[in-house]
Amino acid sequence: MPDGIELESRKLLERLRDAMADDDAGQARLDKITHLIADSMQCEVCSIYLFRDEETLELCATEGLNAESVHQTRLRLGEGLVGRVARRRRVINTANAPQTTGFRYMPETGEEVYSSFLGVPVQRLGEALGVLVVQSKEEREFTLDEVYALEVVAMVLAEMTELGAFVGEGAALSALHSQPVMLRGTVAQEGVSQGNIWLHEPRVVVTNPFAEDPDRERQRLHEAVEELRVGVDKMLAMASGDGTQTEVLETYRMFANSKGWMRRMEDDISSGLSAEAAVEKEQSLARARMGQSNDSYLRERLSDLDDLSNRLLRILTGQGQNTGAEMPDNPVLVARNIGPAELLDYGRSLKGILLESGSVGSHAAIVARALAIPLIVNVDRVTTEALNGDHVMIDGEQGIVHLRPDDNVANAFRDKMAMQAAALERYASIREKPAETLCGNVISLHMNAGLMADLPSLPTSGAEGVGLFRTELQFLVRNQMPRRTELAALYARVMDASQGMRVVFRTLDIGSDKVLPYMKPNEEPNPALGWRALRVGLDKPGVLRMQLQALMRAANGRPLTVMFPFVAQYEEYTRARAEVDKAYERERRLGHPLPSEIEVGAMLETPSLAFSPNKFFEEVDFLSIGGNDLKQFFFAADRENERVRKRYDTLNVSFLSFIERIVERCEQTHTPLSFCGEDAGRPVEALCFAAIGLRTLSMRPASIGPVKSILRRSNLAEVRKVITDARHRGDMSVRPAIMEYLRDQNWVT
Ligand code: PEP
Ligand code: MG
Repeated sequence: MPDGIELESRKLLERLRDAMADDDAGQARLDKITHLIADSMQCEVCSIYLFRDEETLELCATEGLNAESVHQTRLRLGEGLVGRVARRRRVINTANAPQTTGFRYMPETGEEVYSSFLGVPVQRLGEALGVLVVQSKEEREFTLDEVYALEVVAMVLAEMTELGAFVGEGAALSALHSQPVMLRGTVAQEGVSQGNIWLHEPRVVVTNPFAEDPDRERQRLHEAVEELRVGVDKMLAMASGDGTQTEVLETYRMFANSKGWMRRMEDDISSGLSAEAAVEKEQSLARARMGQSNDSYLRERLSDLDDLSNRLLRILTGQGQNTGAEMPDNPVLVARNIGPAELLDYGRSLKGILLESGSVGSHAAIVARALAIPLIVNVDRVTTEALNGDHVMIDGEQGIVHLRPDDNVANAFRDKMAMQAAALERYASIREKPAETLCGNVISLHMNAGLMADLPSLPTSGAEGVGLFRTELQFLVRNQMPRRTELAALYARVMDASQGMRVVFRTLDIGSDKVLPYMKPNEEPNPALGWRALRVGLDKPGVLRMQLQALMRAANGRPLTVMFPFVAQYEEYTRARAEVDKAYERERRLGHPLPSEIEVGAMLETPSLAFSPNKFFEEVDFLSIGGNDLKQFFFAADRENERVRKRYDTLNVSFLSFIERIVERCEQTHTPLSFCGEDAGRPVEALCFAAIGLRTLSMRPASIGPVKSILRRSNLAEVRKVITDARHRGDMSVRPAIMEYLRDQNWVT
């Protein structure tokens, strides 16, 4: 960049800084800024438009346009050139504005006399805040240097907006992040709740965007980048062998050593920004590109750069993970995404979880369900909108988040919570009663668990036992492989807590998205279809054997139920069962206490197993349909990929027919069958499963009440007829017909 423009830009920033130092009210500051910019850039007009709400921009200050139009002129997102800059988050630079696509004439501003137009987005970390515009009568395109200078100023404006510099008397602007906001997302765990925001990664606040001494800022940047490099190298050394993690860290290293990145930040400093503002400027540009790109590879790389920039900002500002802020009461966790182990660290203290990305089928979602914490994923903008301590109300039925709700919303919401409490009371009143349908069928309801903390729910939920105990959660929460004695003690506690009720212990189901931090994962192109669960257990049986021994010792004279995950063919089951026999024999020889009896079952999670020989069905002690995986393989739709996952309904006629076929095969071979995927806990789905012949369902504890309630009011023959009719009509899914039937019956689910 030529020195001249650096100087110009720095001079402009210096003038801005001096102007900001005066103790003016917000509007006066905005007015001064427009005046300064117009003067420095030798333009007749400079205007600042800021968002009033998500869809509306308001002219908040101007030099050159009609003063009366301030706070009067409003534009919708996408409207006019200004609205286009805001929507596309891209600069518009034109010599002839009235002839440019999108131009909209606004008589109140008197702007038709201006020919040149340069508009740049005002944005902070991908959050659009407004648009900064300069215009002049002379018909000319602005030079790249001028564009750059205006971008730098826009960056400073964004920082100052964030700091609340323009709030106050006459500003007609309220502080950012102070207004009520409603956000929408996808429900991953139902529930209505309220609490106060706790950011998983605190927002870094840049208190001074100006470089007082550019040399000093450059030095600070170099030191921080060096610290970052050393940190990445250390992480790489520790992660040796871990495929995906190494790949990400290699990308980090590439960015940390990138000359282009460094040069751009140095240029930003030369033009008057502080080191942290320079990092943020580049980060903002990368985020804007991330939002616009359809190329998933590029988006991932930009997301890596984003993460790295956050680390650099934390080093520069000294605002680490721990900012000293105290977690508020009733915390509602906000994060871009989170892994199952991190979520478990927070435990049950959370009142809700809001993720900007994430997916309904992920294991973090399963952990949230196990902990019965309302979870909403894909909540756009939540990490940029929410501040620590903000009051939030979560409608985990509709997928709506009310951030900083006003009184009207809060009152309506309280009514909703009261209704939910009443429903809970209704469920409590049927807790001791069986899930017996009006036509006399009794459905056996069990609960899914995976943590010691789940067990207190067993007596209060009305479950008859634990239909799925996911043992891997215990492995995921540790930093090292648990020892056999520890596991034996833990399993014994689980059995003690279940007070004689049956607990189905599923052996370790790792791989895919469940990666143990201390086990060397394999680099695989398709982890969900890869070396996971029982495949690992059979190829490297050390851990499986240790787990089986621990379970037998824990049983100590009590019956034991073991289930193998992800069995894809008969032979895998026979080999796994042989491991149980071997472990039993070894324990007997060593003189350890033994279980009084052992049941050995398999999860049916791959379509292949449904077509295995009768002999398999006869040999297995029981089967449990793992609907989460079965559905993903049936439809070839990744359970973690929201885009494809939600295309396929569980009540799709083909899928229901497939489940029915499994039910028939089990009936013919007298094999006990249950369903333990998440769908078993959804009342309408559970009702349809019961109607096609399933008699045992296992679900998270909070679902038992609603499922029991619908079953007790239903006549399965009628529901079955609705399903059959839908099938004959050629409906794609039976859902519309079932919902209509339920409405006719006046049933609230
Ligand atoms: C399933 O796949 O349905 C299941 C219960 O197992 P998980 O969700 O743990 O993979
Ligand atoms: Mg599974």
